[in-house]
Amino acid sequence: MQICGTGSLAATPFSRSFAQVPPTAAASTPDAALKLLTEGNVRYAANEPRQRDFSAARASLALGQAPLATILGCSDSRIAPELAFDQNPGDLFVMRIAGNFVTPQGLGSIEYGSAVLGSKLIMVLGHSSCGAVKATISALQKGNKFPGHIAGLVQAMKPAIAPVMKKSGDDLEQRAVIANVRHSVEQLKASKPILSGLIAKGQLRVVGGVYDLATGKVTMV
Ligand SMILES: [Zn+2]
Repeated sequence: MQICGTGSLAATPFSRSFAQVPPTAAASTPDAALKLLTEGNVRYAANEPRQRDFSAARASLALGQAPLATILGCSDSRIAPELAFDQNPGDLFVMRIAGNFVTPQGLGSIEYGSAVLGSKLIMVLGHSSCGAVKATISALQKGNKFPGHIAGLVQAMKPAIAPVMKKSGDDLEQRAVIANVRHSVEQLKASKPILSGLIAKGQLRVVGGVYDLATGKVTMV
């Protein structure tokens, strides 16, 4: 006799309540996904996140995943995408790297998120006071060198930030953060064949946002 697992419950009237099915995406279109992220960020910034029972969804998530959006964000410890957008485990496919820029391997992860898992939206998420952006500005301005592989990180970010260096001013850092986000957005939009193909079919949208450390609010850029 089977005393555990779903088999013993299959023929009982209660089987339905015990049945577990893989999760389905919370958004079926790119615009719907963006709306969910925007609304979630409003709740987060207002300190009004949804109450959650994490254990309830675990059995379903063990069977699969269907994230509604992909986040290309910075490694910065102060920005946690699931918290910042008030989403559940399974809702966001997250790629993080200091400076939130596109690498060949990262692009492969992002493509997997959309082509295989069905993510409808990619958000490149920069943030205020980004150390990687500051380091790149100092490398461009003063020729500062960085140790080890950090140098490679800065080198990779230079093409995105160099254009805004022509104009100085107090807002240089913020302009560099925005330029860096937009650079990645354009790279992802133009990426062939997977991402550009999904965009052409209306099944994917790529957007940019900047997270403000002080308020927690994400502004689209
Ligand atoms: Zn950063």
